[in-house]
Amino acid sequence: MKLCLACQRCFESETWDCPRCGHRPILRDRLLCFIKDPPVAGNGFKPEYFAKLARFEEDNFWFRARNRLIQWALGNYFPAARSFFEVGCGTGFVLKGVRETSPRLRLAGSEIFVDGLVFAQSRLPGVDLYQMDARQIPFEREFDVIGAFDVLEHIVEDDAALRQIFRATRPGGGLLVTVPQHRFLWSAIDEHSMHQRRYGRAELRRKVEQAGFRIQRITSFISLLLPFMIFSRMKKSSSRDFQLWKEFEISRLLNALLANILATERAMIKKGLSFPAGGSLLLIAKRPATGQ
Ligand SMILES: [Zn+2]
Repeated sequence: MKLCLACQRCFESETWDCPRCGHRPILRDRLLCFIKDPPVAGNGFKPEYFAKLARFEEDNFWFRARNRLIQWALGNYFPAARSFFEVGCGTGFVLKGVRETSPRLRLAGSEIFVDGLVFAQSRLPGVDLYQMDARQIPFEREFDVIGAFDVLEHIVEDDAALRQIFRATRPGGGLLVTVPQHRFLWSAIDEHSMHQRRYGRAELRRKVEQAGFRIQRITSFISLLLPFMIFSRMKKSSSRDFQLWKEFEISRLLNALLANILATERAMIKKGLSFPAGGSLLLIAKRPATGQ
């Protein structure tokens, strides 16, 4: 169901006009915008970020490995899902990957920054894309699965976003989340990425459960590369002129090597191993089919 953000009325309709109060989202650059005052360039983010990201993520081992893990989790834990909504879809790289492995899913995506959605629009013709704040989601019990991949750590009120995601998930449906892990890995990369936090496992578990979900699986990933991450952060913290994109500028050989290591790790996760530590956390949860 659609949810009117002005009067909180739920409604089923082809259009977005609220049957109670007449409110409807603004159409801006062919995108439905649900935010009154969209964030502007310079206000805590850099507009060139998405252009660079779109260029790097296609080949970079980290983005590719995360996509594979998400595709597996979606197919394995939610084989009957018919719809998938990604909150904070950025340039649409994850949705593009999901469309390749699950072509029958109805896909939708949202992003607070329109600069990301412009890339997503060109990558994902026919997919519903919304400019939206994760703390105000205009849906109720609408999607079989909702994903938020490296999004929650950007949001001050991450618990509010999780409650909204819960409301937009169909009873019996589910949640897929990835976040950066371990406070001791906090570095200039987190600051430049405008992260609010890196998560502890208990903290993520608690916030997801408090939103109403039941955890199905939680594992670290980027675990086999953890020693490299620690080493690289020790090196970085001693250098003054940090550059975010240096992190992605690695040789083809190293990229291939790291991709192979993460493929091994993924095979172990698929077999049921849950890593206790790693650069990131993957969490899979369900909204109970009854109650609430
Ligand atoms: Zn209304």
